[in-house]
Amino acid sequence: MILKFILNIALIISGIYVFYRLQYYFRKGVKNKNLFQSVMMTTLAIFSLIIPLYIGDVTLSFYYIPMLLLFLYNKIQYKLLSVVIVFMFYYFLFQYDLVQFIIFLALITVYQLIVPFIKTPKMSVTILSSGLFTVIYLILLYAFVTPISDKTLVAFFIFSLCATILVIKVYEDIDKIFTHFINQEKYQYYDSLTSLGNVRMLDRFIDDAFKKNETVSILLIDIDNFKLFNDMQGYETGDQLIKQVARLLNNHIPTGGKLFRSTGEEFSMVIPDISFDQTVRLAEAIRNAVESTKFHVDNTHVINMTVSIGIGFKTENKNVKKDIIREADNMLFAAKKQGQNRIMFAPIG
Ligand code: GH3
Ligand code: MG
Ligand code: MG
Repeated sequence: MILKFILNIALIISGIYVFYRLQYYFRKGVKNKNLFQSVMMTTLAIFSLIIPLYIGDVTLSFYYIPMLLLFLYNKIQYKLLSVVIVFMFYYFLFQYDLVQFIIFLALITVYQLIVPFIKTPKMSVTILSSGLFTVIYLILLYAFVTPISDKTLVAFFIFSLCATILVIKVYEDIDKIFTHFINQEKYQYYDSLTSLGNVRMLDRFIDDAFKKNETVSILLIDIDNFKLFNDMQGYETGDQLIKQVARLLNNHIPTGGKLFRSTGEEFSMVIPDISFDQTVRLAEAIRNAVESTKFHVDNTHVINMTVSIGIGFKTENKNVKKDIIREADNMLFAAKKQGQNRIMFAPIG
């Protein structure tokens, strides 16, 4: 009995892990998360049907635990499909008791209707509702299938409640861990402070823009004297200022262009398919907008900031990525050297 209980739990938990591992491995191919989850839970339910627990006259299978998880998190069409498939195995292949399945169906329908209205933090709803499900399920089995002895009922109750809670906890944990992995990969390309793309994404974007477009502008936008602000106002306020500048710059991105946070207080704007004149006007408009904006240090104080901008411009003849980036960098350096709060560009031709 205890061995079968452990075997059931081990099977369900390792099944959840294997499914998530596979989903992670084929993450680019798995587009439909709901379908994935329903295949996983249906398979686990069928596994559980293979190892039922017997006490006296009663046969109890933990197939309803994966089904509970499916009903908690999935869409109606997958729930229905899964119930039909599990029923086929339950009734036709394993020839278990039909009344037990009808009780399960009735209960899970009610469960499905009331769970969305239970308002407590998410985790306790899951545990609470599944605990209740287990209790009522056992009571109904007692009433409609076979009068189980008190001792057996208590044993079943403890086993199935432990199994339900354990499996749900582990399922949510594995889900969190793999979601974290996937997010980590995504955030390799994003800056967490401003949510802008970082240097890695900038590099990809430039490669792509250079391949597809005859002209591409790169604007390196660096906040002037930022170290001074940081030292005077503190690093956290510095972070808030960076966020405000990012928001302001965001409002100046022309269609098709993209803004990145390349390093601490330096941003890069890449604009494909734009003329040199338009680029210079855009850079000047950005410089001017920053200069005339009041940035919030806290609720009561505002400050002025300025930026220097270096421009790199790709043309049909001048199209080596490294050279254009170096050009923008040199221009930014020159702008700083000449007194900041200005834009610099190399004449074209
Ligand atoms: P310049 O006008 O020549 O650009 O001078 P600057 O002080 O802006 O440039 P410098 O490169 O000397 O210093 C940049 C400062 O930016 C140093 C560092 O303290 C600050 N910084 C870099 N990254 C972050 C960040 O993520 N948050 C905050 N708050 N400050 C940062
Ligand atoms: Mg700076
Ligand atoms: Mg800098």
